[in-house]
Amino acid sequence: MHPPQRIGRYRLDRRLGAGGFGVVWLAHDEVLDAVVAVKVLSENWADHLDVRERFLSEARLLRKADSNRVVQVYDIGELPDGRPYFVMEYADGGTLEDRVGGGSLPVPEALRLTALAARGAAALHKAGIVHRDIKPSNVLLRTAPGAGDRVLLADLGLAKSLAHASGLTMAAGSAGYTPPEQSRPGSGIDARADVYSLGALGYHLVTGTVPGPPGKVVRPDRLRTGLAPGVQRALLRAMEPDRERRWPTALDLAEELERLAEVTPASAARTTRRRRRTVVAAVALAVVVAAGGVTAALVTRHSSGGSVRVSDASGRLTVEVPRGWARQLRDSGWNPRTVGLPDAHEPGLAVADDLAAWQDLRSGVDGVFVGLSEHGDVRAEVASLAHTGCHYDGSRSYAGAHWHGPVRTWSDCPGAHGSLTEAGLTPAGGAAQPRLYVQIRQKGDSDATDRVLGSVRVGT
Ligand code: ATP
Ligand code: MG
Repeated sequence: MHPPQRIGRYRLDRRLGAGGFGVVWLAHDEVLDAVVAVKVLSENWADHLDVRERFLSEARLLRKADSNRVVQVYDIGELPDGRPYFVMEYADGGTLEDRVGGGSLPVPEALRLTALAARGAAALHKAGIVHRDIKPSNVLLRTAPGAGDRVLLADLGLAKSLAHASGLTMAAGSAGYTPPEQSRPGSGIDARADVYSLGALGYHLVTGTVPGPPGKVVRPDRLRTGLAPGVQRALLRAMEPDRERRWPTALDLAEELERLAEVTPASAARTTRRRRRTVVAAVALAVVVAAGGVTAALVTRHSSGGSVRVSDASGRLTVEVPRGWARQLRDSGWNPRTVGLPDAHEPGLAVADDLAAWQDLRSGVDGVFVGLSEHGDVRAEVASLAHTGCHYDGSRSYAGAHWHGPVRTWSDCPGAHGSLTEAGLTPAGGAAQPRLYVQIRQKGDSDATDRVLGSVRVGT
């Protein structure tokens, strides 16, 4: 089936992702000149009249909630072949699943994000709606310059619970986030079902692990050492199998998490992460010069304006960097084992103004390392790296025309001004391969990260 290029007044630009019921597209509303996201129900579900009806009623309910903590729905309609779709607000910051990227978050950040999702759930509950499918991929982020991220709930689980109740096979489950009463037909669902899922969401962000089934959840402090007892208690109370014992409302949970976020020192949270991950990080930084530090004088492939495109020895990998970075090149590949992936020799290159100083965080360097990885989940590995003594500036999801994935930045490493950026990239179109591990070091204030990430090309 050919992907549509346009739906009515919406021009589809690229696929943002796919879930159990359909595909979500990044689109341009040509009448209002605005960026939107369009979710189209997949063909196999479009034949189920009841699922189809729920898909559309979901859009109507999201609209009814009319809250800025819930994704806005602008329009609903039907393709010529009968598949329904709805048009919604585009969340440029990706989902909480992207943000956590296979790892965990600093505890205060995890608590604040969960509290914001809980406030979104409270807004739905006020409108008489139970979400039923709160999980990281259904919590969206929208960047608001200077004001932190906005957190938006998306995707009610109405269609999913209907499919489940009628015994239809679902492609994607949400195991770990679902309270026991939701898998027991006829037990009646109320707002406390969402309290359970919110607890599971917080648990995932804090521990980096999807919780086990209700009643068999591993204590969070076993997965994250040094976790404050209050945080553990709040999360486990939300995930009580007996809903009478949970936080009575999503708002109660939100307030407790916000209070805990205030009293949990960010530095303590960082220390735990550091202790656990530092070894990997130190090795990762040595990637480039490990083999005796032999560096080639730079061979310039071709250059445009102020930048230069360089290639690795295999010729598969190229990247464009600002001219000032392109003094030395090491093009002989890398071993993904340095970031915890299976042992291999893969194409990789490093280009910098001073490669000898690359692994020394105290010195200022401008450059980039790009390594290809055919095996293993680079994105997850990137999410678990940390750099001793540097200030962690946080993570965001990068979404360019060619690549997307988590990007994490550190600044002000001991004794040096500048930044260190790590990214794990996969193709923007949603393919799993090729995967890239990228490290960028910059000593000045100007930031070429997105330009460099966007310029990476992998040949066959
Ligand atoms: P499920 O079907 O179980 O809900 P899912 O949440 O991963 O799984 P979808 O809801 O179909 O699947 O969404 C697919 C992906 O599209 C999401 O994971 C997210 O990355 C992206 N996405 C969905 N809605 C938006 C939006 N409004 N703005 C930006 N990205 C979105
Ligand atoms: Mg979803």
